[in-house]
Amino acid sequence: MAVRPIVTDPENKVLRGKAKRVGRIDDYVRRLIDDMVETMRAAPGVGLAAPQIGVPLRVIVVDYEDQLFAVVNPEIVKSSGDETDEEGCLSAPHWQGPVSRAASLIVKGRDRDGKEVRIKAEGWLARIFQHECDHLEGTIFLDRVRDRSQIHWVEPEVGEAEAAGEDAEPHEPPEERR
Ligand SMILES: [Zn+2]
Repeated sequence: MAVRPIVTDPENKVLRGKAKRVGRIDDYVRRLIDDMVETMRAAPGVGLAAPQIGVPLRVIVVDYEDQLFAVVNPEIVKSSGDETDEEGCLSAPHWQGPVSRAASLIVKGRDRDGKEVRIKAEGWLARIFQHECDHLEGTIFLDRVRDRSQIHWVEPEVGEAEAAGEDAEPHEPPEERR
């Protein structure tokens, strides 16, 4: 397993493109899943989609309250309710904003062994699945913030910006795409 670099360039073509369906779930896909889990945990984050590490395939991983999910070709088949809450994203570090999402849903797809899975999720777990499935369409949560003035910059922890080798100064949020 390996931690892979996370794409944070809002113009990146893989991050902003539509990911392809996975055909056969083979060792390449299983290694991709393992690397995604390791990358997500190292970040740390609660979810990651393959395009975020530069791989244009429909694979997501979610780690929430001791439950780890890896879903290949995920599809949201049923959703209901509406909840608005603050989101952030490993591909848009330090930005946060309120996003309206379905409150509960069912995700269908395949697991790492190619077995069909059907996951019922609500609340934060449902939110994470919607956020990660959005990445497969090239959509970032910032695109879904209705009032752009509510997007805000969260100060990095002391030493964090330095460790990441990045500039901690606030800047303009990534451009809206749709
Ligand atoms: Zn994200």
